[in-house]
Amino acid sequence: MSTEERKIEKEISEPLISNIQRYSLQDGPGFRTTIFVKGCPLRCPWCHNPDTQSTKTEISFYSEKCTGCGRCAERCPTGATYTEVKGKGIILKFDRSKCTGCGKCVDACLSGARDVAGRKMPIKEIIREATADAMFFFNSGGGVTISGGDPMLFPEYTLELAKLLKKEGLHVALETSAFGQWQHLEQLLKYIDLFLIDIKTLDPEKCKDVIKGDLDVILTNFENLVEAGAAVRARLPIIPGFNNSQSDYAAYTAYLSQFVGKIDAVDLLPFHSYGEKKYQLLGRMESYQFQDVHSMEPKELKPLIIMLIEAGFVSGQSLTVGGLIGVN
Ligand code: SF4
Ligand code: SF4
Repeated sequence: MSTEERKIEKEISEPLISNIQRYSLQDGPGFRTTIFVKGCPLRCPWCHNPDTQSTKTEISFYSEKCTGCGRCAERCPTGATYTEVKGKGIILKFDRSKCTGCGKCVDACLSGARDVAGRKMPIKEIIREATADAMFFFNSGGGVTISGGDPMLFPEYTLELAKLLKKEGLHVALETSAFGQWQHLEQLLKYIDLFLIDIKTLDPEKCKDVIKGDLDVILTNFENLVEAGAAVRARLPIIPGFNNSQSDYAAYTAYLSQFVGKIDAVDLLPFHSYGEKKYQLLGRMESYQFQDVHSMEPKELKPLIIMLIEAGFVSGQSLTVGGLIGVN
């Protein structure tokens, strides 16, 4: 293995942290602190956290705060940020293909127009932040959720993090697409109290062609977790034009009906457009296909809700909309 390959492997085995969100109510029961690792093996076109897809540092650019002073361009060592003369003034240009994510432009900017998406964070610091709200966790039945991106892209790191969180006596949930190796999920069984498994489609072709995953792997892992007696919630992001047809709903109902009483719940997550701003900040609006798609109202999911209730799931208990599980 070359030095460069070793460097890349090390970077991937120790992910950047995209965000640590406190007081979250939608990533498991009670008040939670959610740790978002940066990096995902899938490429869902509707992803509302595009800043967590790449494993690398990226620069968010808030154009509305930029005064055009040019300090960032002066500090940029690669020429990714540069200025061009236009008329009597200059305009700022950003060639992201040349950006190494060094962050020098962020330090140079006095207007807060630039920010780093993804930072290195020692695991001890993560544990310290995660335990800061322990009292809220215990009073609300909450805990910590490891999310992303997808933590299963970093199996050794995720195992270590889960062990340390468990050592602190916390309830630990893992949100994942389950697109990884079973042996890695199996190792986590002892340390994860709740698995939140995203099942984005039941169509193997769409899974392969649109989101770049392997449905067999995902469903086998899901079924193995249930078989192993783990607490599992199936999370279904419902996306207009992708998986919200009558036949998609029939496929979900037929598949999930065999797990009534065996999984904790099905959480329906209607599409929302809150992620759009992040695509703008990361300069990726051209690749975002949902610009004109409205956020779905929970009532739009009524046909699927009725089908799942008829299959045996109980609204408000083993069937929720929005992922709000509740606070004790
Ligand atoms: S992060 Fe570094 S390489 Fe990228 S634009 Fe800023 S200064 Fe240039
Ligand atoms: S330093 Fe900040 S305010 Fe100045 S041009 Fe760069 S991004 Fe804009």
